[in-house]
Parts: sequence; C-alpha cells; structure tokens
Amino acid sequence: MTNDPIKRIEYDKRYNEKHREEIKARRRLYMREWRKNNLDKIIASDIKWRQKKENKNTIKECQHQWKINNKEKYIAQKKLTNRVYLGIIIKPPTCEHCGKVTLLHGHHNDYNKPFDVVWLCPSCHGQMHRRA
Ligand SMILES: [Zn+2]
Ligand SMILES: [Zn+2]
Repeated sequence: MTNDPIKRIEYDKRYNEKHREEIKARRRLYMREWRKNNLDKIIASDIKWRQKKENKNTIKECQHQWKINNKEKYIAQKKLTNRVYLGIIIKPPTCEHCGKVTLLHGHHNDYNKPFDVVWLCPSCHGQMHRRA
C-alpha cells in the first residue's frame, strides 16, 4: 500500500483488471438479488390488482378471449396427445429438423389437421414459431 495518489490509482486499476471476473460476478449476483426483490413487489402488486373487484371482469374477459383465440390449437393438441397416449400415433425419437434426441413437441402446420404434425425439439419448435 502507498499514500501516493497516482500510485494508488494505478493500484486500483490493476486490482480491477486482476479481479475483473470476480467483480462482474459480484455485480451479477447483486442484480439477481435486486431483481428477485423487485419480483416480489411485482407479484404483490399483481395480486392486489387481481383482488380488486373492478378488475375481476377484465380478468374473466382475458381468459375467455384466450380460449376463443386458442380454441383450435387447444383442441388439436388435445386430440394429438390422446392418440399418442393410446399408441395410435408413435412419437419419433429424434427431432425431424435437427435430429436431436430429446422430448419432442408436435408442431401443427394446420390446426384443422390435428394428426398432421412435425415432431420437433423445443429449440426447433421455437424457431418455427418465431419464423411464422
Ligand atoms: Zn431440433
Ligand atoms: Zn408449433
């Protein structure tokens, strides 16, 4: 340690360079904690909002709207899952896109054809939907 201010700055700089990863990790941890604390506040205010009488109808309306918007998707998925469960449709072991062996999603190109699906891994499936 030194009392020379210039040397002191040099020292701090070297210290920061040497411990860069450590400092970054500490900052990341701090941010994560901060977000976690904020999340509680977010959830709390969300619950408060939901408990208010005047918002009850809005929530109901949203849920109702979701069902209307996703009805075909919901029904198609349900029909497919049922057939897979019964062994009528056999899930392939690998993603039809990249060949990865993992838990596959049945992707519908047309929800009116519930059994006409492409079997994709989660990442290929996500890509498929982002493209659409
Ligand atoms: Zn894939
Ligand atoms: Zn899909």
